[in-house]
Amino acid sequence: MATPQRSYSSNAPGTFFVDDTCIDCDLCRQIAPTVYSEESDHSIVFHQPQDETETRRAAMALVACPTGSIGTHRKVDIQSAARAYPELVEDNVYFCGYASPNSYGAASYLIVRPEGNVLVDSPRFAKTLVQQIEKLGGVSTLFLTHQDDVADHEQFHKHFGCKRIIHRADSRAVDAEQLLDGEAAIPLEHDLLAIPVPGHTRGHVVLLDRNKYLFTGDHLAWSERRGSLIAFRNVSWYSWPEQTRSMRKLLDYRFEWVLPGHGRRAHLPAEQMREKLKDCVDWMSS
Ligand code: SF4
Repeated sequence: MATPQRSYSSNAPGTFFVDDTCIDCDLCRQIAPTVYSEESDHSIVFHQPQDETETRRAAMALVACPTGSIGTHRKVDIQSAARAYPELVEDNVYFCGYASPNSYGAASYLIVRPEGNVLVDSPRFAKTLVQQIEKLGGVSTLFLTHQDDVADHEQFHKHFGCKRIIHRADSRAVDAEQLLDGEAAIPLEHDLLAIPVPGHTRGHVVLLDRNKYLFTGDHLAWSERRGSLIAFRNVSWYSWPEQTRSMRKLLDYRFEWVLPGHGRRAHLPAEQMREKLKDCVDWMSS
């Protein structure tokens, strides 16, 4: 729980505050950009919510924060914000909120499908989120993009009895039910394609759903500042040249959404997305 005594003095005066336990994961700034902003290596409240909508977004950020670094000086309706996740992105794709400190605040997603729901990377195993996921049909598959974002996979597996999928090269910490091998794309059930993209880690895999949604873990994200697709060279733990090669491989696929673990989402027509991806490959190769 955030404590007022540890709150940053640069928070705007008012109800919400951020304290010094913030790990700068960026989630609150994505969820409530009119309330939270970045200051050196952490977030602050730069503008207090002025209406119901802003208050709700600020509270949703509080719920999603992996480290409990957001607090309030007076009572706010957190319960309804807690039930707002999973939050619809588009069609049947949801953002789970409830980030885990064990995955450094990575975003996770739920694909709701008649054949069985797919959870992409693990959120925090929080009671309210689990109940909301149950209402959406539970989880039959937990797809783990790589070893860093597995968080509470064991609890989700035990609770929902879901199958966990991860690449063998990243499977040391996960007793997964299905291991992926090699670098060739692997068709999973019903329009889902697992594409190995070594680079950030050796066994990183992205998930392509219906040639529209690309769940990219820590391989690829959008930068609002640059207006471009980016990869994070400073955390390319396995190999930057390999990650560049993996990025080039994605030019063979069509998608409209980039849904990352860290970094911002992108939504563009497929042709424009491909151009942005080409730019990204050129930038990585330079
Ligand atoms: S969500 Fe929490 S940890 Fe992440 S930037 Fe905001 S306050 Fe910091």
